[in-house]
Amino acid sequence: MRRVLLLSVLIAACSRTVARAPAGVAYDPALTQVVMLGTGTPNPDPAHSGPALAIVIHGAAYLVDAGPGVVRRAAAAERAGVAALAQPNLRIVFITHLHSDHTLGLPDLIFSPWVLQRRAPLDVYGPPGIAAMTDHLERAYAEDVRIRTTGGQPHTDSGYVARAHEIDSGVVYRDSNVTVTAFRVDHGGVRDAFGYRFVTRDRTIVVSGDTRPTDAVVTQCHGCDVLVHEVYSLQAWRTLPPEWQRYHAIAHTAGADLGRLAARAGPKLLILTHGLAWTATPEEIVGEVRRHFAGRVVYANDLDVY
Ligand SMILES: [Zn+2]
Ligand SMILES: [Zn+2]
Repeated sequence: MRRVLLLSVLIAACSRTVARAPAGVAYDPALTQVVMLGTGTPNPDPAHSGPALAIVIHGAAYLVDAGPGVVRRAAAAERAGVAALAQPNLRIVFITHLHSDHTLGLPDLIFSPWVLQRRAPLDVYGPPGIAAMTDHLERAYAEDVRIRTTGGQPHTDSGYVARAHEIDSGVVYRDSNVTVTAFRVDHGGVRDAFGYRFVTRDRTIVVSGDTRPTDAVVTQCHGCDVLVHEVYSLQAWRTLPPEWQRYHAIAHTAGADLGRLAARAGPKLLILTHGLAWTATPEEIVGEVRRHFAGRVVYANDLDVY
């Protein structure tokens, strides 16, 4: 009964969303920018794809998470002018944790751009277990690879290969554009959950991943340009069944707590994503945050650019 009630609440929340034009700023290839590819949660809200974003730097794209819909949202962003998100450029992704809502798009990210002639393998950075996941996916789709590589279809030789890199805290990646540092966050029962900090020539961007309020986010941001953080509505949370209240309280971050955390972290821009809104509106969640954080805060939607 409670499940039915919760589902109807979720559906009601989904039906409140309406189509809208992307917000934020215009895409500028001269700058480091954040392109929100999926701002949703496990709830199958058609307006909000599964968690994924891209840090776009000088024509290169660095993805964080691969929720369902990631490849199609990247294609939509490309059509909206973000050339860096063309299929062959989807070459590197940093996975925050192995929850399915953050990884269901991984086979899509491994195989679809290959069919569209990506030459380079996909580099997949993520927590312990990511190598087993990519290995299993490679085996699951072995027949597809066999058919496409032996059936006369034009193909590249290694575009379907996923190179897994299992990470721990610290610098996990560096090139001429960016240094990426992983840090541990507290996502309830998830043993290995990470956030990432991207430092480029013009911006420092911190992505929380899924987490309850965690001091590491404050330390890593410390006046950063952009903090992308998950959130849930405290007001709507109070209406949930007790077992769901307990779960969300240990695994996720309420709007009011995020406001307090942001006041300590001091980001120039706070982007709310992975919003568990239930019966609340985005404006109400932003209001919860603003009661404790005087800085700039926005509630992200898919394809917003910041
Ligand atoms: Zn999640
Ligand atoms: Zn999660």
